[in-house]
Amino acid sequence: MSTQKGTIGVTTENIFPVIKKFLYSDHEIFLRELVSNAIDATQKLKTLSSFGEFKGEITDATVRVSIDKEAGTLTVSDHGIGMTAEDIDKYINQIAFSGAEEFLEKYKDNANAIIGHFGLGFYSAFMVAKKVEIRSLSYKEGARAVKWECDGSPEYSMEPIEKDHIGTDIILYIDDENKKFLEQGEIDLLLKKYCRFLPVPVISGKEQEWKDGKYVDTDRDKIINNTEPTWTKKPSELTDEDYRAFYHELYPGQEDPLFWIHLNVDYPFNLTGILYFPKIKNNFEITKNRIQLYCNQVFVTDSVEGVVPEFMMLLQGVIDSPDIPLNVSRSYLQSDTAVKKISGYITKKVASRLEDIFKSDRADFEQKWDDIKIFIEYGMLTDQKFCEAAMKFVLLKDTEDKHYTLEEYRTLIEGSQTDKDNDVVYIYATDKVAQYTYIQAATAKGYNVLLMDGQLDSHFIGLLENKVEKSRFVRVDSDVVDNLIPKADKKEAQLSTDERDILTSVFRSQIPAIDKAEFLVSFEALSPEANPILITQNEYMRRMKDMAAMQPGMSFYGELPDSYNLIVNTEHDIVKRIMTDANENVMPRLKPLFEAISANNDKTKSLRDNAPEGKLSDVDQSQIKHLDEDTAHQRAEEKKISTEYASAQPLVKQVIDLALLANGLLKGAELNEFIRRSITLL
Ligand code: ADP
Repeated sequence: MSTQKGTIGVTTENIFPVIKKFLYSDHEIFLRELVSNAIDATQKLKTLSSFGEFKGEITDATVRVSIDKEAGTLTVSDHGIGMTAEDIDKYINQIAFSGAEEFLEKYKDNANAIIGHFGLGFYSAFMVAKKVEIRSLSYKEGARAVKWECDGSPEYSMEPIEKDHIGTDIILYIDDENKKFLEQGEIDLLLKKYCRFLPVPVISGKEQEWKDGKYVDTDRDKIINNTEPTWTKKPSELTDEDYRAFYHELYPGQEDPLFWIHLNVDYPFNLTGILYFPKIKNNFEITKNRIQLYCNQVFVTDSVEGVVPEFMMLLQGVIDSPDIPLNVSRSYLQSDTAVKKISGYITKKVASRLEDIFKSDRADFEQKWDDIKIFIEYGMLTDQKFCEAAMKFVLLKDTEDKHYTLEEYRTLIEGSQTDKDNDVVYIYATDKVAQYTYIQAATAKGYNVLLMDGQLDSHFIGLLENKVEKSRFVRVDSDVVDNLIPKADKKEAQLSTDERDILTSVFRSQIPAIDKAEFLVSFEALSPEANPILITQNEYMRRMKDMAAMQPGMSFYGELPDSYNLIVNTEHDIVKRIMTDANENVMPRLKPLFEAISANNDKTKSLRDNAPEGKLSDVDQSQIKHLDEDTAHQRAEEKKISTEYASAQPLVKQVIDLALLANGLLKGAELNEFIRRSITLL
């Protein structure tokens, strides 16, 4: 073969200045393109050898990137299949190209798009080189080595040369603006970025060692890549430690990840990878350590918007797929159906893995809940499919740090927290300390209070109200506890002041004296079927006393009497009968006493109200004292009359005792008396 000269087959007069001009920002990817080609060629030779089509021996399956500063060249060498003159003609000279300028203009900001679209991988060398040489010897029997040369104009020349080894050297004569690519440090950085997981060893520079106070080159070649990254291995061959180690290889200096998911599909598309759930400490780390996208182990990008669902941007790790059309623009990527499928697949896989972890080790899942909660809530808020799947394992945490699934929680509160409209009311706190008293009041009433203090919780609450039928969330401090969950339309007890006074007096007179117990009589119009008397205990006090029993420092609470509410159901027949009888038989005697007491109170109040500058005169003070004494006298009289009257009404004592009995408060002599009375009544 003699020297051949020709014009590269492009329709545009001069493509190289265009490449240079428009691809300015992404210059560095030339190295990725050249090294990938070298790797491909190396792997192809291995494949041919395994098929017996290449009979020679593969002695050196490495790719070498070397710098010659004096000559101003950067060379990428491989021992792959090589190219004959015909191959170069076909693959390098005839680049299919139409409407080039128009296209370049459109995608000028996206070097990947242009390079991918035109199969311009090799030509990206002209972004940094004023001249490029190919020296290649094909594996084919009887092939002659060839040199191809081009200085950036559409003209090239090709001539035979001598070359010992099969394979290709691509020699770049770096132009003046790109001299930095002649620095080993710069090349190391690029290789680390794009080539760290390539499947064939890539050598660049020498290993260094510390000698006489500085680092010096040894004579050992420096291999810059890990040719078998963890994601390419079978999950069954990997230990937890392997996954953690790979995570730290990807993101040095991070805490251990919480969970990971090994992705592995070959149909209907090809995809492998490992996604990690990081322990998110701050936003900075989220933006810095992102998911990396690879194409056959070649790093492509870490802007994965559009390829993975938005919420997965909080994850870290690697996705490798030859099927993602990486060399196209972002908007194209997002509308691509293959990409949509991939995104859907990843979502499904992540959801099912989370469900697995939840099912197989719930304690672990709960322990990590605070860290993964933001991810799961974000996912549920932004991705319909994920939301559906996550309804099974999303957890709610209450103020006592107990975790529940949505279903478990519903079952827990349904009984006590359903309101009159049949909505189940979820009570939540956003700050355990600030809302302490409200939380106590609600739990004392037997309600459960959720802790919703996450960044996304206010949105998440909205989502749950939407998704969970007949549910409503109220913040614990949004109303007095009795109004948090409005129960059946409350009927007011229909009693006059006199009736209230008389009934209180009559019932109070019959409550037995129980050691360290205090009763407060109140009236409620409950249903006629409910008990005539109900006794409830103040839950808050009970818990305090329980705690006091265990903690020595709280004896104050231990000393307090138990306080009970004695609720008289004014709608009950027996109570009505008691009331009618009392109205007829004891009212005439008690009423004057109540009037006298009321008059005393009015007088005292008026004296106090009219005291000049709030100061009572001596006369006033002695008058108030007198009134108080009189009231005490009337009260004693009232108690005497009530007791006398009520004692003759076994019904009153009987209903009170029944209620006490129901609460385990009737004991000893009182119990004995109750039994005797019951027999008599029978
Ligand atoms: P692509 O790699 O996308 O096909 P390139 O422009 O990078 O586009 O390369 C064009 C073709 O040139 C390759 O498909 C391959 O056949 C050939 N080629 C490039 N570099 C090498 C090499 N180092 N060894 C063997 N063949 C190569």
